[in-house]
Amino acid sequence: QATATLKAIARRPDIKGYIEHNPSSYALLQRAAARYVTGEERSMALEVANQLISYDYAVSLEYIGENTVSLAACEQAQQELAGLIVEMGEQGMSGRVSLDLSHIGLLVDRELALRHLLQLGELSQRCTIELFISMEESAKTESILEVYRQAVEVYPLIGITLQAQLNRTPSDALDMLAPGTRVRIVKGAFEELDTIALSRSAELDERYKELFELAVQRGCHISIATHDEALINSLLQYESQEAASVELELLYGIRPELCVKLRKQGYPVRIYLTYGQEWYLYLCHRIAEYPPNLFQALVDIVGG
Ligand code: FAD
Repeated sequence: QATATLKAIARRPDIKGYIEHNPSSYALLQRAAARYVTGEERSMALEVANQLISYDYAVSLEYIGENTVSLAACEQAQQELAGLIVEMGEQGMSGRVSLDLSHIGLLVDRELALRHLLQLGELSQRCTIELFISMEESAKTESILEVYRQAVEVYPLIGITLQAQLNRTPSDALDMLAPGTRVRIVKGAFEELDTIALSRSAELDERYKELFELAVQRGCHISIATHDEALINSLLQYESQEAASVELELLYGIRPELCVKLRKQGYPVRIYLTYGQEWYLYLCHRIAEYPPNLFQALVDIVGG
């Protein structure tokens, strides 16, 4: 409940407006967000991405945004994502762009989101950049999977995120995963009813493992996207002769010591970077999913 409340507060236009029009609170919160968000501008994300690549990490980039309801805002997001893909291509960067379908039109019209995704798919194929779809609240799962299914038929390199927490996911995975499918497995960031989802538990970890093993057996390209070290270790012990590829994908600013350790152990590690004006919402997401980050944010504000 606390998670949902914090996210709801973050989305309230009056609170957002207050912060945006109050320079001192804006600057203080931005200091806390700097741990998780590279900056407001694309150039900042690209700079950090290039640094990470030089240290032998792969990267994912996200232009932060979700639940966009005006056509103009969807078009703006689409153009920014297109610009990001082109610029990564021009820099010869091999990376991944991640996006929420609700940022580029899903809430306006599913066809709009599909059209935008296909345009981005075409561009990313041309620039040899991977395109990955994030998974949002359960109310959107069906339409996200439907748009994904239609787009991946045209551009097979588009990837999809699956949430282990949802009870429907094992069956979705059985339907969807095929040789070469690009899939990111997460536990899930959204507060869902216990009739449709598991909360953090051994049962959830077990389901995560089963999804991972299925993806390996089906020869998928898999991103293990969790900061749970015990879970990561148990997944990495799974041995198989299948043609799957496996990498670890972690969020920028979260458990950096674990990223270094895994890299030193020789595993491929991808860091998920974000940028954009919606950094405030992203900061609230990170605090909501792991409340000790609230104290970290206070330390960053006071100490910064
Ligand atoms: P948890 O079981 O929540 O936590 C395990 C341990 O990890 C904690 O004890 C702590 O040590 C550490 N940890 C976890 N979260 C944090 C944090 N915020 N700050 C500091 N330490 C932390 N979710 C979606 O619903 N849809 C998506 O599309 C999506 N994409 C993602 C992409 C990537 C690359 C990653 C890494 C996550 C993504 N998530 C997404 C979020 C994910 O679902 C979880 O909410 C998030 O990763 C926290 O859960 P966990 O699996 O890391 O581990």
